[in-house]
Amino acid sequence: MVSLSSILEHNQQFVQERKYEPYQTTKFPKKKLVIVSCMDTRLTELLPQAKGLRNGDAKIIKNAGAIVSHPFGSVMRSILVAVYELEAEEVCIVGHRECGMSGLNAASILNKAKDRGVEEKCLSLLEHAGVDLETWLTGFHSVEESVAHSVNMVRHHPLLPEEVPVHGLVIDPGTGTLDVVVDGYETVKGGCS
Ligand SMILES: [Zn+2]
Repeated sequence: MVSLSSILEHNQQFVQERKYEPYQTTKFPKKKLVIVSCMDTRLTELLPQAKGLRNGDAKIIKNAGAIVSHPFGSVMRSILVAVYELEAEEVCIVGHRECGMSGLNAASILNKAKDRGVEEKCLSLLEHAGVDLETWLTGFHSVEESVAHSVNMVRHHPLLPEEVPVHGLVIDPGTGTLDVVVDGYETVKGGCS
């Protein structure tokens, strides 16, 4: 485990020695790309390297599973901000093999929550308030299906310009191999340069 104090100690040295200099860039993605991917630790450096991306090349949005689960949730909002305010021109949803969200089970999480002190009555209250914990905490069975579903939601979002291609890919967290699930150029109206 890394402690906050050791992070801060490293940080002081990092700044003092001007180690930030190779990373300096702007907030506008040079490659005009916005990526939605998974928070999996194996992808932290592997994903940009495997796609040939450096600091400053792309906006990268991450969550558990690279899932766009709601048309008016924070991931979709981030995509729209990237497109309208930050000059992104293409969207790429990148799921991965061996994802923890594959087969994620709501009962397992809720049991662990109860073991760690969350009371049953709290769960009942949430259910009575209309929170569907079972659905919310359930992952996907097929990463290809999940990526295709997210691509579809983004591509058909009423606020996304028609000319923006939305690609769907699956990456191997071991080798970085990318498989194409959806080629966004094929679905975009009028093609893309
Ligand atoms: Zn994952």
